[in-house]
Amino acid sequence: MSDNFDVIVIGGGPAGYPAAVRAAQNKLSVACIDEWKNADGSPVFGGTCLNAGCIPSKALLESTELLHRAQHEFATHGIQLGSIAFDVAAMQKRKATIVKQSTVGILALFKGAGVTPLQGHGKLLPGRQVEFTAHDGTRRVLQARHVVLASGSQPMELRSAPFDCRRIVDSWGALDFDAVPKRLGVIGAGVIGLELGSVWRRLGAEVVVLEALEQFLAMADGQVAKEAQRHFKKQGLDIRLGAKVTGARVEGEEVVVTYTDAKGEQTVTFDKLVVAIGRRPHTKDLLADGTGVVIDGRGFIEVDEHCHTAAENVWAVGDCVRGPMLAHKGKEEGVAVADLIAGLYAEVNYKVIPSVIYTAPEIAWVGQTEEQVKASGRAYKVGNFPFAASGRARAMEAAAGFCKVVAAVDDDEILGVHIVGPMAGELIAEAVLAMEYSASTEDLQRTIHAHPTLSEALHEAALNADKRAVDCLNR
Ligand code: FAD
Ligand code: NAD
Repeated sequence: MSDNFDVIVIGGGPAGYPAAVRAAQNKLSVACIDEWKNADGSPVFGGTCLNAGCIPSKALLESTELLHRAQHEFATHGIQLGSIAFDVAAMQKRKATIVKQSTVGILALFKGAGVTPLQGHGKLLPGRQVEFTAHDGTRRVLQARHVVLASGSQPMELRSAPFDCRRIVDSWGALDFDAVPKRLGVIGAGVIGLELGSVWRRLGAEVVVLEALEQFLAMADGQVAKEAQRHFKKQGLDIRLGAKVTGARVEGEEVVVTYTDAKGEQTVTFDKLVVAIGRRPHTKDLLADGTGVVIDGRGFIEVDEHCHTAAENVWAVGDCVRGPMLAHKGKEEGVAVADLIAGLYAEVNYKVIPSVIYTAPEIAWVGQTEEQVKASGRAYKVGNFPFAASGRARAMEAAAGFCKVVAAVDDDEILGVHIVGPMAGELIAEAVLAMEYSASTEDLQRTIHAHPTLSEALHEAALNADKRAVDCLNR
């Protein structure tokens, strides 16, 4: 095998593997190095997303959502089941099968595209050389014309609640519980806290979520956050805001957590504690001295708007660089870099990156929140449409939530779309496309939406921005 490549990608997660595949599609010789090993020691591509993030969490969210619906909704449809039981081991087995299908799929993609997969550690040396250490310890120095760093991120640890991997775990640990904890504590009411808190709550755990901020879901539109909080409360998620964790200690089979809030010092005891307070870039042993790549004060690899680092022909994409830590953002960057390397045009539109939280109701948004538009000083209008007024949502027994469109008064441009409700993560795609084309609310208003679909809610919200909605009162 040659030790010379046009492109070497270090990291085979959702930012790295698409970069490798696209570079190979662009007729470049490519190797992709990844060091991930699963709990059983097997090396796999796919990174956090496929092995310990997006895919396993969505598998469990789907299983537990079905259980919840069977328990709480089927009777309303006239479906009578006897007693409903569940089997955590079977759910976990299904999850593992889905993860395996996905990771094996990457190897198939590499084979099809002609990417050389290398499993082990990659380290960038000066002059775009890469030291590759295979899992069996053998070392080779490879040469590349271009190197793409896609080394991802890892969970942040809380000094007052260090992981012990048994009682105090990170999100990967929380995806792998083999039984339902009776009392589950979660530190951080962010995306992971809400998604994994929902999974175990639906299976019967008493879930307490401790969030340091006073404001719930501060990154989301305020109206959406308020609506979501109401539903989570109804579902039994005990979300405590303004809770500053001061300590967590394992005592026998329990974790005792202390925190302070507006009422003073508090103590709460759990069977398991998940720490989900954000992730930080992972660059350990990635760079030898003298590569010219710069790491910023927060540990991210410094890049320009095209993901080029300070070193010639060295690029960096995904969670290890600035911007939201989302798989689709990393993928877009990886593909763009592979096209730029091949001399093609490419650009990532950072203003139009959708966010989705896969709870029930689902939460999704793109663009600016109403609060951000207000703070910008631009005159704006808002259109809302409740799913309660959607025939399809009612037929689905999923009429909670609403669609919201925020648009400029001067030229009618859509500035942000916010959805809390059924299939929000799918519905947001229309808004993303609209904003990618700088659409106005009039463009959405004049677009025909099939009836009866959930997408009509977005159509009506756009109409409501001009108080011309037909299926709801124009307030
Ligand atoms: P990673 O996926 O972390 O991949 C980096 C890879 O590089 C890893 O395999 C690592 O082993 C390897 N690597 C690192 N350094 C080296 C080295 N020196 N040599 C060799 N290999 C190396 N995002 C979404 O968009 N949607 C979701 O629904 C979603 N759900 C999530 C749920 C959870 C529980 C978590 C934890 C995250 C979730 N995310 C989600 C975030 C998403 O997983 C990340 O944004 C995404 O995986 C980042 O991709 P990446 O390729 O940059 O990094
Ligand atoms: P997050 O940034 O979404 O949420 C972390 C939360 O923890 C915040 O609300 C923060 O205020 C709180 N927090 C921070 N320090 C705290 C402390 N000491 N005590 C109590 N609360 C504290 O991070 P996350 O949930 O860990 O997720 C990590 C990343 O993974 C995110 O960037 C997210 O984008 C990504 N992710 C995405 C999805 C998705 O797209 N559906 C799902 C899971 C994870």
